[in-house]
Amino acid sequence: MKVVNLLAVVDQEKCRGCKTCERVCPVLAISVVDRKAVVDADRCRGCAACEQRCPEYAITMAKREQPIVVQVDVAGVDYAKIEELCRKAKLHPEQIICYCTATRAEEVAAAILQGARSPEDVSFQTGARTGCKVECIQPILRLLEAAGIEPSPPKGGWQWYGRTPTVWEIPEEVKKKYTGRGFYFDEDIKLFERVIAAPLQGRRES
Ligand code: SF4
Ligand code: SF4
Repeated sequence: MKVVNLLAVVDQEKCRGCKTCERVCPVLAISVVDRKAVVDADRCRGCAACEQRCPEYAITMAKREQPIVVQVDVAGVDYAKIEELCRKAKLHPEQIICYCTATRAEEVAAAILQGARSPEDVSFQTGARTGCKVECIQPILRLLEAAGIEPSPPKGGWQWYGRTPTVWEIPEEVKKKYTGRGFYFDEDIKLFERVIAAPLQGRRES
């Protein structure tokens, strides 16, 4: 869940139409039309990625008159399916996967079960990945993959990053080589699996 208080505003005089803002927006809320950037105010999640990267300093973050509350209706989805998807992605449903917005795995799973098909869809619906945009892309990609979805990066965009291997995917020869040299892969796997399989702590026991 995210309360969006800010909105990107473009100074049309300063904008040179370079498309940097379009390429970095995690929800595809800004696009260049006739060499000028235009913000879709309903889509903007106030992350400031465009403002921070505009080479012309043409974007400022303005306070919204009416903040937008971005959240997915987890209760509106069969929780058994949410749980199944999270655990398949090797995540506990209640674990926070986006620390900037405190979004839990269950919220991302609910968004996917309600039709999200890309990290951009997930970010638009949940608010996740509209803070630092670093930590949460991997669990989002894992949840999409667990649902059988292989998203393609936005054409010409810089938003999306390929999935990195999890500890479960490290080849045996690599594990063998590094185990005991400060890495304990099998112990890590056992610990993670206990965490992933732990009972739900919140209100939704399935
Ligand atoms: S990054 Fe700045 S200059 Fe480039 S298109 Fe966006 S607003 Fe215009
Ligand atoms: S969501 Fe972020 S990058 Fe996209 S338009 Fe809004 S502030 Fe800019």
